[in-house]
Amino acid sequence: MNSILAALKNKNILISDGAWGTFLHERGLQPGECPELWNITHRNDVFEIAKSYIDAGADIILTNSFGGSPLKLEHYGLQNRCAELNEAAAAISRFAAGAEHLVLGSIGPTGVMLMMGEISEETLSDGFRIQAEALQKGGVDAICIETMSALDEACLAIQAARASTGLEVVCTFTFEKTVTGEYRTMMGVSPAEMVHAVKEAGASVIGSNCGNGFDQMIDIVREIRSVDAITPILVHANAGKPIFQDGKTIFPETPEMMSAKVREMIRSGANIVGGCCGTTPAHIQGFVEAVRICS
Ligand SMILES: [Zn+2]
Repeated sequence: MNSILAALKNKNILISDGAWGTFLHERGLQPGECPELWNITHRNDVFEIAKSYIDAGADIILTNSFGGSPLKLEHYGLQNRCAELNEAAAAISRFAAGAEHLVLGSIGPTGVMLMMGEISEETLSDGFRIQAEALQKGGVDAICIETMSALDEACLAIQAARASTGLEVVCTFTFEKTVTGEYRTMMGVSPAEMVHAVKEAGASVIGSNCGNGFDQMIDIVREIRSVDAITPILVHANAGKPIFQDGKTIFPETPEMMSAKVREMIRSGANIVGGCCGTTPAHIQGFVEAVRICS
């Protein structure tokens, strides 16, 4: 098993992978279809996505398990297959990554709100435990809790993953720029509030994913660094703000546009750089080259 913290000591800057969701849709995943079921029914498509990022030069890849919590799987009547689908996701990425590259087990939000009393802490925590244990069984090196917006859910997920697996945990939140120019999650959480809460819950790497492109992500990294000089930061930035055009969602930032700003992202304090929605292996290859040039 590999350690992200050890890998960072070794290499300083690590490159992570790009989009999974938008990539799966490109390969034929239909709206209303369960992406995690593809770990069984379309194993080769999932493998090829994972492998394409390794071939692009990524040090880290994630797993096709973002919506793999029992609560999300319940939408498809698949909640009883949570362990099976997550273990398969991890095994596919592990196989693509080999022993030398890192695999982070992706865990996304459940879509239910603790604050509203929609669910008990115990049920929520249990789901995260089942998912994290299955990802570990499938061979991940660490857990990545991502696209979070609520502190309570993120902290429960971190604690459940830490307690059940002992693995390193990465936690990233998604921020939007408000009309007054501040960054907040959908639930009103600021980058500074996130930093304190997720570190206390046990995350060893913090950061941000998704969002509205590379420039805003650089701002967010600076804001995190203004309150925390040490904790490693991972960013998975979208290829810009999605535009809906002719019935299709388009992500405007090209590999060239994003790669040109990788140095600035690193100078602002990011330690691990990858992409989210709309990014492709070409984006990741551009990031790898940009890091190679500046190191
Ligand atoms: Zn995204």
